[in-house]
Amino acid sequence: MKCSIGVISGDGIGPEIVREARKVLNAVAAKYGHDFEYTDLLLGGASIDAHGVPLTEETIKKAKACDAVLMGSIGGDPKTSPWYQLEPSKRPEAGLLGIRKALNLFANLRPAYLYEELRSACPLRGDISAAGFDMIIIRELTGGLYFGARRTEEVDGVRTATDTLSYNENEIRRIARRAFDIALKRKKKVCSVDKANVLDSSRLWRKVVEETAKDYPEVALSHMYVDNCAMQLVMNPAQFDVILTENMFGDILSDEASMVAGSIGMLASASLNDTKFGLYEPSHGSAPDIAGQNKANPLATILSAAMMLRYSFDLDKEAEAVETAVRQVLKDGYRTGDIMSDGCAYADTERMGTLVAERI
Ligand code: NAD
Repeated sequence: MKCSIGVISGDGIGPEIVREARKVLNAVAAKYGHDFEYTDLLLGGASIDAHGVPLTEETIKKAKACDAVLMGSIGGDPKTSPWYQLEPSKRPEAGLLGIRKALNLFANLRPAYLYEELRSACPLRGDISAAGFDMIIIRELTGGLYFGARRTEEVDGVRTATDTLSYNENEIRRIARRAFDIALKRKKKVCSVDKANVLDSSRLWRKVVEETAKDYPEVALSHMYVDNCAMQLVMNPAQFDVILTENMFGDILSDEASMVAGSIGMLASASLNDTKFGLYEPSHGSAPDIAGQNKANPLATILSAAMMLRYSFDLDKEAEAVETAVRQVLKDGYRTGDIMSDGCAYADTERMGTLVAERI
C-alpha cells in the first residue's frame, strides 16, 4: 500500500521522538511491503522561526494533500522561549488549534492502556490495577461549551459570565458513528457518557446515540452519567472499552484516564475528521527540559503511529505488530528514564526506537 504521511517534527523533543516513530514505520513498510512517503511540515515554534507565524497556508495545503499527519509536539518553555513574547495568536499553540480547525478534526481519540510491566506506575489500588484496563475515549472536539457563544457583562450591577453548551444532531451523529466504527475494531462495547438527568444537550446526545446504535447491532451500547463515569474510572476501569462523550466531559475524563494509566511518555492520541484523514500525536508536550538530550520516551509517538496505521490506513495487522513490539520491549526489560524501575535496562530515545523496530 502506498501512503503519504505528513510529518510535523515540531519543537523540543519532537524531532527526536518523531525520528524514532519513522524508524518503526520504515520497519513496518519493509516487513509488510508498503510504501510510506514522508512530507515534512512546519508547525509551532519551528514555523515561527522560519516564517514568523506558527501555521502557514502552505502547511495546511500540504497537510491536506497527505493521507495522514504524524506529529511530535510543539511549543517551548513559556518562561524562557522568545515565542511566548509574541501575542497569543502568534504563539506555537495557536498553530495547533489552527491546523485542527483547518483540517476539521472533530473526533479526538485517547487510548488508556495499562501495561502489565508498568503496573507499579499506576496510582490505583493494587487489586484494581491487577485487573488491568484497555479503553479508548472518543471525545467530540469542535462543538459544545468550548465553542459556544460566551459573554461577560454586568447585569443589574452584578458581574455575570455566560457560556453556551450547544450540540446539533449532525454533530452528535458523526462522532457517535466514529465511536461505533472504532468499537467494531475492538471489544464492541460503547459507553456513552452524558448528563442527561440535567442537560438538554445531553438528552439530545443520548437520543441520537441510540438512533445511531441501530446501525451497529453487533455493538453493545450503555449510558453513564459523567459524575458516575469519573468515579468508575478509578473504581473499575476494566469495565470500559470505548467511552464516547462530548467536548468538555471528554477533556476532563481523558486526562483522568491517562493519569490512571501512569506514564505520560506512553500515551498516544489521534484527531480525526469525517474522512480517513487524521492527525496523530503523543498526549504529552514538547518537554523542553529534556530536549536534545536523547532522553525522551518515544513510545507514545510510536503508538500514535500505530493508531495512524489502524485508523487512517486500515492496516490493523501492522498496527497490532507495532503495539506487540512495544509490549515485547517492555517485557524484555528495557525502559527510558521516565518509566525506569529496579532491575530494568536503560534505553535512550534512539535505542528505544531501534529496539521496537527490531521486534516488528
Ligand atoms: P510536557 O508534557 O512537555 O512535560 C511535562 C513533564 O513530562 C516534563 O518533566 C517532561 O520532561 C516530561 N515528559 C513529557 N514527555 C515526555 C517523554 N516523551 N519522555 C520523558 N519525559 C517526558 O508538558 P509541559 O512542560 O507542561 O509543556 C511543555 C511545552 O509543551 C509547552 O510549550 C506546552 O504548551 C507544550 N505542549 C504541547 C502539546 C502538543 O504539542 N500537543 C501538548 C501539551 C503541551
